[in-house]
Amino acid sequence: MPPLQNSRRPIRTRTLTSAQQLERAIGALRRVWVGGPDTGRDIAMTLDSLRQLMPQVASTHEIATTFDAAITSLTKLPSDQAARRQEIERLGKSLQAIKPMLGAPAQTTEYGKLNTALGERRAGHPPKERAPRQVSVVGQLPPDAAISELPGIGPKNLKKFTEGLGLQTLEDVLRMVPRRHIDYSNTIRLDDPLGLRGDVTLRGKIVEIREIRVGTPRVQARLFDGTGSIRLMWFSTWITKQLAEGDEIVVSGSLQPGYGSLQLTNPEWERVGSEGLSTGGLIPVYSLTKGVTQKTLRKMSRNALDATKRQLVDWLADAREYFPDNVWQALPPLDQMYEHLHYPPEREAFELARKRLMFENLFLLQLGLVQQKKRRKQEQGHAIAVDTTIVDAFYAQLPFQLTGAQTRAINEILADIRSDQPMTRLLQGDVGSGKTVVSAVIALVARTDGMQTAIMAPTELLAEQHAISFERLFAPLPEESRPRVALLTGSTRAAQRRSLLGALAEGEIDVLIGTHALITEDVTFRSLGFVVIDEQHRFGVRQRGLLTAKAHGFQPHVLSMTATPIPRTLNLVLNGDLDVSIINERPPGRIPIETLRYLAQDRAKAYDLVRQEVGKGHQVFVICPLVEGSDTIEARAAVDEAQRLQDEVFPELRVDVLHGRMPGKAKDEIMTRFREREFDILVSTSVIEVGIDIPNATVMMIEGADRFGLAQLHQFRGRVGRGGSKSYCLLLADDVSIDGGARLQTMVASDDGFILAERDLELRGPGDFIGTRQSGLPELSWLSQGFDSRILDIARESAERLIEASPDIDIARFQRLKPRLQHFWAHRQEPDTGLS
Ligand code: ADP
Ligand code: MG
Repeated sequence: MPPLQNSRRPIRTRTLTSAQQLERAIGALRRVWVGGPDTGRDIAMTLDSLRQLMPQVASTHEIATTFDAAITSLTKLPSDQAARRQEIERLGKSLQAIKPMLGAPAQTTEYGKLNTALGERRAGHPPKERAPRQVSVVGQLPPDAAISELPGIGPKNLKKFTEGLGLQTLEDVLRMVPRRHIDYSNTIRLDDPLGLRGDVTLRGKIVEIREIRVGTPRVQARLFDGTGSIRLMWFSTWITKQLAEGDEIVVSGSLQPGYGSLQLTNPEWERVGSEGLSTGGLIPVYSLTKGVTQKTLRKMSRNALDATKRQLVDWLADAREYFPDNVWQALPPLDQMYEHLHYPPEREAFELARKRLMFENLFLLQLGLVQQKKRRKQEQGHAIAVDTTIVDAFYAQLPFQLTGAQTRAINEILADIRSDQPMTRLLQGDVGSGKTVVSAVIALVARTDGMQTAIMAPTELLAEQHAISFERLFAPLPEESRPRVALLTGSTRAAQRRSLLGALAEGEIDVLIGTHALITEDVTFRSLGFVVIDEQHRFGVRQRGLLTAKAHGFQPHVLSMTATPIPRTLNLVLNGDLDVSIINERPPGRIPIETLRYLAQDRAKAYDLVRQEVGKGHQVFVICPLVEGSDTIEARAAVDEAQRLQDEVFPELRVDVLHGRMPGKAKDEIMTRFREREFDILVSTSVIEVGIDIPNATVMMIEGADRFGLAQLHQFRGRVGRGGSKSYCLLLADDVSIDGGARLQTMVASDDGFILAERDLELRGPGDFIGTRQSGLPELSWLSQGFDSRILDIARESAERLIEASPDIDIARFQRLKPRLQHFWAHRQEPDTGLS
């Protein structure tokens, strides 16, 4: 197998016209609005496009200022979703407005301006009309048929759907959850003073329509609804070909104060009485990609629904009879779920459909996890003989006394590895709680029994630090019982690597510490018996599996470690139920870290504190604001910030910078120099938050703190307070949304990683947990909205009961469920850690 490559694709910079470039920026921005695992990359892409466009548009003042403002705003998007979306919508509109000036046909803005359906229903309006269901235009097709089977999708436009939207099969279309729905049947009247704000849907007659060619080409129309009139504006002239005076339409959009009158800009519209797809009930609004319109996607989903109507096999149906539980019984059947995801008769139907989708995923996930657990229990492990004298000898020479929690965790692990049933244990401990020494004891015990240990960490920096810690911990042991430690990462030189691998195969290395480099094929152990996965949520199941497969003839004992306290619910989703050891006690003598919040205007005070601490001989971390996804841009931002701090703020101090784009060697050098106190302030990007140990650092200053999740902020905070001096965590935020402010206040108030993690999960949902990039949870994006831990509990319970009743999921009884389960697991994505 070739070495694992960084799977993050570089940002493409081919030559585009200005209009294309802007379109690309807007497209990326749309995806940012939607959110999801690639949000960071999309922000980066938007920024990238705008910056590239800048020189071309600089001569036009209006465009240049809009761009400038957009770039600034993009680099500090609020993390609170509502505020963030609002900001993106604003940005999107301002960019859309510019598009015609660059010579591109303007398109309808698709940002969430049509939220009527999502908002409250307004009472007292005309009763709903339902348009007759459209007559099917496609024959029956199986759900796994390619989308090219659908009418209107041919070789010419196929790519837009496959590449742009990730749609391959009809099932992909069916499972494409709309961002929101528009309710055209729930209109308000223009004389309704209370209804006239925000997102509205109106019904009326076009009384005037004209194309304006002066300035930005646009179409202006007036809609009269019998009680009043409103101006409609489209920045696109093709509208004149579709609409004429006298046409009766329903429009939906976000109200803006026009010049003295109300206006809807680029509203969505439908002709009244048209037998189109979109006239009755709730109309789906999908995430778009370039060249694909809502109408196309609606046609596509309608066709996919009709084509598969009689082809669907409800895989929950044969399990359903085993579960009289209310939740199960309330779930709609599969065909109804699909229909209601796209075209629900009302809001509640959509919610139920989404609930089933979530339940279904959770249930299939849990079924697999429960099966895995059962299988694991039957696997052959290797019982390690525990030599307590060596454990005692190790304890005796430690420079500190283990905490009660550490001792407890060690004993739990020792009890596990004594058994020939392979251990799968998760060690959870807050940052600085001392997990390393726990794994070191076990590695020592394994070595005494002739077993090798592999320790895999997500970054080179962490792996290097582990190697140093292990060397240091083992150093005082007499040579004959001292484990031999080696480090293997992507930057290990070929010659050294060769000799290292030889020694490993010969059993001359006892503890091999490294990154993903450990799972390459040519790494062979003589007798691997113990595997440690540090920051386990950064690795995929497959990667962990590749490492454990390096043991010969049995499953090694596996200890996963995480500094992110994972709430129980999320742990269930991610890992099934691993055995868990918790270190909930800090090494003694640590002075509590003082957490302080600063607004922009108080920044100088924060800088004073920094100066004061450096004056005492201490050191300072500065974390730059999050620029999710793009290491390159984030790196650039960090370099700029370091320069600024050095030149303008702390000319008398020594500032240096560390970021994810640096080669391992350079990072190592910086860290070493920082540890040796060769400089005072280390500016770094958020990517390097894990596990760095610099006891002399007493200040952690976090810029743009409101944009990080609690769990992540807590991780940053844990970088300080490791020595004997009082430490500070300074949270800087420019303008904080209400949510962001509350989050920061929670940070000030609580020092308990578990509490913060639970709160994070509550506030941001599992999809956002720990911050998109750090979470490594792309396969959980469907959990982001409306996650309900009760559904998870029922899914888990049901999975356990089903496996109990039929351990192999008997195909005769579960003809429909079983193939689906296999399909689900075969398509389950591995997290993309984005790290080498
Ligand atoms: P983490 O759990 O974040 O990986 P580490 O294992 O890196 O934490 O430990 C943090 C620091 O605390 C290290 O410098 C380690 O040597 C020290 N340490 C660990 N256990 C104790 C203890 N019982 N008493 C004092 N210091 C300890
Ligand atoms: Mg650690």
